[in-house]
Amino acid sequence: MDSGSIRRKFLEFFEKKGHTIVPSAPLVLKNDPTLLFTNSGMVQFKDYFLGNAQPKNPRVADTQKCLRVSGKHNDLEEVGIDTYHHTMFEMLGNWSFGDYFKKEAIAWSWELLTEEYKLPKDRLYVTVFEGDAKENLPFDQDAYNFWKEHIAEDHILRGNKKDNFWEMGETGPCGPCSEIHVDLRSDEEVKKLPGKELVNQSHPQVIEIWNNVFMEFNRKADKSLEKLPAQHVDTGMGFERLCMAIQKKTSNYDTDVFTPLLSFIGQAAGVTYKDNEKTDIAMRVIADHVRAVAFAIADGQLPSNTGAGYVIRRILRRAVRYGFTFLNFKEPFIYKLVPVLGNQLKEVFPELESQKEYVGKVIFEEETSFLRTLEKGLKRLDIIQSELKGQVISGTLAFELYDTFGFPIDLTSLIARERGLSVDEDSFKAEMEKQKSRSKADAAKETGDWITVGADVKPEFIGYDHQEADVRILRYRKIKQKNKELFQLVFDRTPFYAESGGQVGDTGYIESVNEKIYIHDTRKENELIVHFTETLPENLQATFHAQIDKQKRQLSMDNHSATHLLHAALRQVLGKHVEQKGSLVNDRMLRFDFSHFSAMTAEEIQKVEHIVNQKVRENIALDERRNVPIEDAKKLGATALFGEKYGDFVRVITFDPKFSIELCGGTHVPATGQIGLFKIVSESSVAAGVRRIEAITADEAERYVSESLGLLDQVRELLKNPKDLLASTQGLLEEKHALEKKLEAFQQEQANQLKDQLASRAQQINGYHLILEKVTVSSADALKNIAYGLRNQFDDLLLVLAADVEGKPQVAVMLGEKLAETNRYHAGNMVKELAREIGGGGGGQPFFATAGGKNLDGLSAVLEKARKLIQ
Ligand code: ATP
Ligand code: MG
Repeated sequence: MDSGSIRRKFLEFFEKKGHTIVPSAPLVLKNDPTLLFTNSGMVQFKDYFLGNAQPKNPRVADTQKCLRVSGKHNDLEEVGIDTYHHTMFEMLGNWSFGDYFKKEAIAWSWELLTEEYKLPKDRLYVTVFEGDAKENLPFDQDAYNFWKEHIAEDHILRGNKKDNFWEMGETGPCGPCSEIHVDLRSDEEVKKLPGKELVNQSHPQVIEIWNNVFMEFNRKADKSLEKLPAQHVDTGMGFERLCMAIQKKTSNYDTDVFTPLLSFIGQAAGVTYKDNEKTDIAMRVIADHVRAVAFAIADGQLPSNTGAGYVIRRILRRAVRYGFTFLNFKEPFIYKLVPVLGNQLKEVFPELESQKEYVGKVIFEEETSFLRTLEKGLKRLDIIQSELKGQVISGTLAFELYDTFGFPIDLTSLIARERGLSVDEDSFKAEMEKQKSRSKADAAKETGDWITVGADVKPEFIGYDHQEADVRILRYRKIKQKNKELFQLVFDRTPFYAESGGQVGDTGYIESVNEKIYIHDTRKENELIVHFTETLPENLQATFHAQIDKQKRQLSMDNHSATHLLHAALRQVLGKHVEQKGSLVNDRMLRFDFSHFSAMTAEEIQKVEHIVNQKVRENIALDERRNVPIEDAKKLGATALFGEKYGDFVRVITFDPKFSIELCGGTHVPATGQIGLFKIVSESSVAAGVRRIEAITADEAERYVSESLGLLDQVRELLKNPKDLLASTQGLLEEKHALEKKLEAFQQEQANQLKDQLASRAQQINGYHLILEKVTVSSADALKNIAYGLRNQFDDLLLVLAADVEGKPQVAVMLGEKLAETNRYHAGNMVKELAREIGGGGGGQPFFATAGGKNLDGLSAVLEKARKLIQ
């Protein structure tokens, strides 16, 4: 069975059991302060478990793109070394939200594996939670009993909290789980040692394929467990591992999920997979990592220096490094895999195929710059080696290579070994620890548990229709960030828009009879709207009158609607390849990032601006539709963004159905005329293939235009109101240029005259020509030219000039060729002495030196001192 059929069968099976099949959520998370990436299938359903939202159908199934490279679940270092952990993998899952529980979950997983996929029953093992006294959790007798109905009892094993109690993160939903393992060894090996001895022993062919989690608890900040309001099923099956089992392979990389990538890599590197352990690992690392990196970029995450972007950068660099070191890829290569991968997965995850050019471009640039860094690092290593006393590279130096050049310790050690050196890895580790604790201290944030205040109602956002309302507090919690205490409040209903879709959160206040409390930010945590305050209301039970900052909201709305018009205009002018890659909308400006491969021309910018302003003047009324089924919205031609998670029902914002239709949760102007004026203030590059436009609207645009025109008026006035300002300015510049030329010639002439005068006044003393004078010249260059001119005239010259150069004192000492040979004088040393008189310093060659200073009155003293020096 090929991997496509395996995936399809899973979804069909659960569809038949009454499940709704939903799309995978994006890899990169936007509104979750506890996670950077989706690390399991349940992440997109967190709100259902926590009771913050209700699913339409309590039975759901899907295949979810997961990434396990940071936080509690981090498999990065294993990937490529072993054959069954990936950075990005697909997790097949079925869920029950307060519907069926252990009995059905267990029966169906057994049915699917043994009857549909026909995995041999005697090669399957299951585990159940043995209980944990410390947490006061009992043995999972129910799960054991249900399994007994399907599988021999000696294939049911007991597992401890580490393996059989699943937790998503440090806090959040969790519960006991039951894993299914498969033994893929040969019959001979099985005969020697029964599979149950190898379950959960990190054996590459006796591996966990499916985990059935029975969600019952919520892990709180103080680590205690709290019973969830309802019981849920959350299962996750590793798709690539399942393919290995069904296709009777012993490594995920031998399945058709990876073979197309591996053969492409092998061909490019001129190596065969399974020839050599080292090149095998490198090939696996690249085949794996390109998936994570390409899909993260397709979901909108560019490599960067912080947060999720940094994780992506590190994964890509790990792949580049392995290719560079073991496969001899000295030029960018990984980007070439993007079309192979896009084509392979286009049926399930079309987001890569449709953006393959863009994603490839981003990866290419990132590879290019890292290869350059690697080269620089190697040069630095050469220097380190040449300066090395002994054979050991210190931990500090290894850390420098790691920190500035991205050289991980294993690469440094490898190169060191090749050169007959070693690295002090212990002290490197100590440096790493130091850095870790530094960044930990920076990021330290304590989040308290939610404390329930009001009735258990579902919070409601009413901000599309209301800017003020009477609200009650449902719950609150305390957070501590950078040693500052803040509070987060949740209301039963709220007019405050929470930051999302690029639009900043509302600010404002809530007020009761006794107190007024400022809301300084509003954000989303998954679907929950959280209001930030610095003080906690004294009376939490009170009814508060909530009011947003209307002015700020209005300006944000102008900018948000203008962003939609801009997006549509860009697609009209530049082409349909323009995809939104990021946006920021606040009350001052809008910023829009989009895929496009070259800088926009002035003409294109003007065209876009013109179209937007035309749409503003048309005063197009907003067509806002809420709760539109997603399929209908797509039929309307609404632009959905990659990397954005949409529910079954969406909000559609239209300004002229022939112009702009977007899925959007933001707030918008009732008609485009309110935007007033749209002005692009900059167009620049953010990353390979991504351009950025910054623009302003309404009051800001008006201010900008009138300031610019005001400036122009001032210029015109300065130029005495010429008829043609441009021609007159140009004339002025040309005139200036001509005058400069004339002046230069004049000064040259003057300098020549001065030189001749000086030459005529030269005194012959002690067998040389002495010129010792105070002069006034137009530039340091002129002074130098005079000195050289005189040198050409007298080969026994001793020249000391104390010059006033446009009001600044300078000294020049020049020796003729013959005199210089005698070594009687040293111009450099003399100038140093003389410079003291003008409060400065200088130096130069033995025959010519100059010095500048501050004290113009000291010029006479310079000459007096020079006289003494040459006696
Ligand atoms: P393991 O112990 O093998 O790392 P796990 O306990 O971390 O697995 P779960 O968190 O229970 O796994 O995830 C559910 C399923 O997802 C696993 O049974 C496995 O099939 C799959 N899985 C987990 N991590 C990975 C990974 N890094 N790469 C591929 N598949 C994975
Ligand atoms: Mg794991």
